[in-house]
Amino acid sequence: MSSLVDRFLRYVKIDTQSDPDSFTFPSTKKQLDLAKVLVSELKLLGVKDAAMDKYGYVTGTMPSNIKSKIPAIGFLAHMDTSPSASGKDVNPQIIDSYDGKDIILNKKLNLVLSPNEFPMLKDYVGQTLITTDGTTLLGADDKSGIAAIMTAVEWVGQHPEFKHGDFKIGFTPDEEIGRGVDNFNVHKFGAEFAYTLDGAELGQLEYENFNAAAAHVIVHGKQVHPGTAKGFLKNSLLIAMELQRMLPEIERPEFTEKREGFIHLDHMTGTVETTDMVYIIRDHDKTKFEHKKTLMSEACAFLNTRFGAGTVDLDLTDSYFNMKEKIEPVIHIVNNAREAMLAVGVTPKEGAVRGGTDGARLSYMGLPCPNFFAGGLNFHSRFEYVPVSSMQKAVEVILKILEIYANQ
Ligand SMILES: [Zn+2]
Repeated sequence: MSSLVDRFLRYVKIDTQSDPDSFTFPSTKKQLDLAKVLVSELKLLGVKDAAMDKYGYVTGTMPSNIKSKIPAIGFLAHMDTSPSASGKDVNPQIIDSYDGKDIILNKKLNLVLSPNEFPMLKDYVGQTLITTDGTTLLGADDKSGIAAIMTAVEWVGQHPEFKHGDFKIGFTPDEEIGRGVDNFNVHKFGAEFAYTLDGAELGQLEYENFNAAAAHVIVHGKQVHPGTAKGFLKNSLLIAMELQRMLPEIERPEFTEKREGFIHLDHMTGTVETTDMVYIIRDHDKTKFEHKKTLMSEACAFLNTRFGAGTVDLDLTDSYFNMKEKIEPVIHIVNNAREAMLAVGVTPKEGAVRGGTDGARLSYMGLPCPNFFAGGLNFHSRFEYVPVSSMQKAVEVILKILEIYANQ
């Protein structure tokens, strides 16, 4: 499967960093450089309808080669890389049969990828790893997903005897800045369900994520000269601090993990006159999520009773929801992904995402969409790396899922 590695190396050399400060879609033009390459490669691989739309979404179909009607299955990956580290002039290093010791990423900068710092490296002793040169991220997030899907497409094209239903391919921009599916046309894509290959380590399988809301609080005070303030001054900074005190301390992100939710003060600026606060509220459990929102509303209402109506303005908006609710009615898509992993010798590692995914939003747009591994580790950093065999396993899982549905 060396075509897998060749592809991956080619894709990571194209700078596709997205930009949260941009107002265009996609946020950066350079993402289209990769999109165009992918369209022409898909065409060469026999995907006749491969195309890029005006937003930069790349889609295509490997048409079904069986008579019976079975669901069209989509596989998605994102083209952009994180704004948190440079994606320009990526210069990947290949480490053959990793010996378990420190990997020197960059002698000049004295940068080392060490199992002391990243113990997971020990799981990949003896394998081929691809790392950075210590100056950029690698882009395995999510170009390993793209390379895996492209390699599966190639394999299917070379094996006409392999029976499968409609195999839909989708590559999206701007995932890293949370806009990845803003303009995605689920209906046109035409899949009944899909998988994002945007997970990290081998075996990762996710179909639960946070329910999320944002609370924007504005506290209005009354400023006067402190020397003559008696009976008049209302300090919005102190009222804001009171609000924070009314929220349960134990429900802060620094004290929570796994399926525990939180209320997080993300941003605060203020003067005596006005204080601005932004909280984010997260919980996997819908009831607990609603409870946290109620708590926030009640705390603000209490402050208004105490300091006068209109002292505290609260704007509470939902951001995204746990996809589990949309996946459960079609749980076979998770069960079959799990079965596919086991069939190719991968132990599934299931957990709830402590964040949101493009798949979560797609699930609420009518395309149920769990997420599974594409192999990369240490995402968004100069220490990012990917074991080649994990990418190969991702290709095998795609093919096995197609096979399982074709045989049902
Ligand atoms: Zn990603």
